[in-house]
Amino acid sequence: MVFRDLTDAERRSIFLEMRCPFCGTPGFVPGPRGGASRNLFCKCCGAGFNVPAPEYWDGKTAFPWGQLIREPLAALLRTPPGPLPS
Ligand SMILES: [Zn+2]
Repeated sequence: MVFRDLTDAERRSIFLEMRCPFCGTPGFVPGPRGGASRNLFCKCCGAGFNVPAPEYWDGKTAFPWGQLIREPLAALLRTPPGPLPS
């Protein structure tokens, strides 16, 4: 899949509520980190996010970016069969 930027609502859910924006499950499984970013994964639906490491945002409102790096499982199951993406 192509990584896409998280929406404002998705970033709010992750950073301010610490909940998966897709299934609402609280908390994340931390994944690898490098530089100013780290990966978080939802322990329920498996969605993956690439987000700023905690020391790179102020914990209030300034979270300028974030990417979806793995679709939630429900989205994968809804994907109709078709040619594999190149
Ligand atoms: Zn989830």
